[in-house]
Amino acid sequence: MSKNKTEGGLRILVVEDEESFVDALRVGLAREGFEVSVARDGQEAIDVFQSRPFDIVLLDLMLPKVSGLDVCRTIRLSSAVPIIIVSAKGEEVDMVLMLEIGADDYVTKPYRLRELVARIRAVLRRHETATAPLPSESVVEHGPLRLDVDARRCFLNGKEIKLRKKEFALMLLLLENPGRVLTRDVLIDRVWGSDYVGDTKTLDVHIKRLRTLIEDDPKNPAHITTIRGVGYRLESVTASDE
Ligand code: CA
Repeated sequence: MSKNKTEGGLRILVVEDEESFVDALRVGLAREGFEVSVARDGQEAIDVFQSRPFDIVLLDLMLPKVSGLDVCRTIRLSSAVPIIIVSAKGEEVDMVLMLEIGADDYVTKPYRLRELVARIRAVLRRHETATAPLPSESVVEHGPLRLDVDARRCFLNGKEIKLRKKEFALMLLLLENPGRVLTRDVLIDRVWGSDYVGDTKTLDVHIKRLRTLIEDDPKNPAHITTIRGVGYRLESVTASDE
């Protein structure tokens, strides 16, 4: 799986069965410099995806033959390509499930092309950051945050902030997954494992404490945001985005 950006632009696989969307996306995304391939049902999507490399997949949920969820699962068996799920308004979407099967983001129809392109670019940027080799395996960085894993030290804009053991583990997990929603279950499991006893508020208490340490305004967090009912996400806070 290479991620070489060819002269022809980023290769996007658009999986969509509604003709009106297909036409608009084909034209609109090509204008944005993407090389657009289209699949009109789930089976075609899997076939096309396996036939050549893609940089990103835009995947409608409701598809003939094979559902979008199953297409996503199938792609994930062999590829870490960024996948954006598209759902129709009113369609019930199980966000937790979507994240669990490896979708990177989702948009709801109807959407504006500009919004969609911004989401695509954001996902691609995150993917690039996530797959970029780290300068040293013991240092994890994201935006103003830096963790020295071996020394167990955390820095915000170069200034050290003191973290307790679980806070450090939580911060590390967030920093290793920038831009991704981490579900409560995943966070609890990875940070506490079987140490996590009873009180479901423990996670929230730790998040709250991290926020008081790193956020300018802990009540309106810019770094660690809450995805209601799902979990938390470390945002891409950089000075020169776009
Ligand atoms: Ca559809």
